Amino acid sequence: MIAVLRHGTNEKQIQSLTSWLRAQGIDVHISKGSQHTVIGLIGDTSKIDADLLESLDIVDSVKRISVPFKSANRKFHPDDTVIKVGDTSVGGDVFTLIAGPCSVESMEQVGEIAKSVKASGATMLRGGAFKPRTSPYDFQGLKADGIEMLLEAKKQTGLPIVTEIMNANHLPLFEVVDVIQVGARNMQNFELLKELGRTKKTILIKRGLANTLKELLMSAEYVMAGGNENIILCERGIRTFETYTRNTLDLSAVPMLQELTHLPVIIDPSHATGVAKLVKPMAMAAAASGADGLMIEVHNDPAHALCDGAQSLTPEAFDELARAVRRVVEAVKEI
Ligand code: PEP
Ligand code: MN
Repeated sequence: MIAVLRHGTNEKQIQSLTSWLRAQGIDVHISKGSQHTVIGLIGDTSKIDADLLESLDIVDSVKRISVPFKSANRKFHPDDTVIKVGDTSVGGDVFTLIAGPCSVESMEQVGEIAKSVKASGATMLRGGAFKPRTSPYDFQGLKADGIEMLLEAKKQTGLPIVTEIMNANHLPLFEVVDVIQVGARNMQNFELLKELGRTKKTILIKRGLANTLKELLMSAEYVMAGGNENIILCERGIRTFETYTRNTLDLSAVPMLQELTHLPVIIDPSHATGVAKLVKPMAMAAAASGADGLMIEVHNDPAHALCDGAQSLTPEAFDELARAVRRVVEAVKEI
C-alpha cells in the first residue's frame, strides 16, 4: 500500500503518521520526490483501513499495491534513484560506461586497459577477481590479488572499481571495492543477497540466465529489505534456443524495468551476445532504448584473454563504441 501525501505536508506531520503506522506493525519507506512525498507501507497491510488513511488531512490518495516487490517499486519512489559512486553517479540523467577485462590477469594488463578505457570516456573500471566458470578446470580468477590490482588501477586512473562477489565470506576483501557485482549465476543466491543488504555498498545485480524481470526485482528487494537501497540492475542476455549468439539480449527489459522500478538499469552487450562485432550495435541499441549505462568487456589482447576473449573489444574498438554511444545518448535526450 502507498500513501501519497498532500503538497506542503511538514516533517512533524510525516513523523506522526509514520509512528502511528509503525505502532501497528507496519514498516514505512519514505520517498521525498520533486512533486510529492510518498509513504510506502511494508508488511501485513490487510489490517490498515485504507479509507481511514485517505481521510487524514495530510493524505492525498492511498493505493493498494499487489506486486510483491515494494522497495524497488517505482510507485513507492516515483523519481529515478541516483547512486553516488566515488566522484561519479549512476541513474537519472547520467549515462554510465563501465569497461574493463572479463578477468584481472596481471597488473600490466588491468593497468593498461584501465588507462585506455578511461581515455575513451569510461566512468568505472570492471574486472573479475573471483570468476564463476562453468568448468572447474578453467581459470578461476586471481582472487584477493586481483582485487589488489584493481585497487592499484583505481589509484592510477581514479576510476571506481566494479568486481564480482561469489561468496559472502569474501565480504571483508570487498570493503575496498566501489561496486559489488552479483553475477547472473548468483542472482538468486538469497543468503548472499541478504548479506549484501547489510552493507552500504552499491550492488550491481545481473539478471540470471533464465530469470524473469519479476525475479530480478525480487532479488533487488532482498538487498533493499536489509536496508541497502544502492542497487543497479543489469540485463546481460537470457538463454534461448538461439545458438549464433551466446545469449539473447532482452532489450525490452530496459523500458519495462524503468516503468516498474526507480533503480538504474544498465545493459551488458558483451555477455548478451558473446561476439565482439555485435557489441557496438547492441550498445547503441541499448543507449537508444533509454538504458542508464553499459558494461563492456575490453581486453588489450583478446586472442589471449584467459576468459571471454571472443566477446572482448580491443581498446580501439571500445573507443569507437564510446563515441557512437555518446552520439546516441545525445540524440535520445533531444527526442
Ligand atoms: C562477468 O561480468 O564477467 C560475468 C561473469 O557476467 P555474468 O554473471 O553476466 O555471466
Ligand atoms: Mn566475462
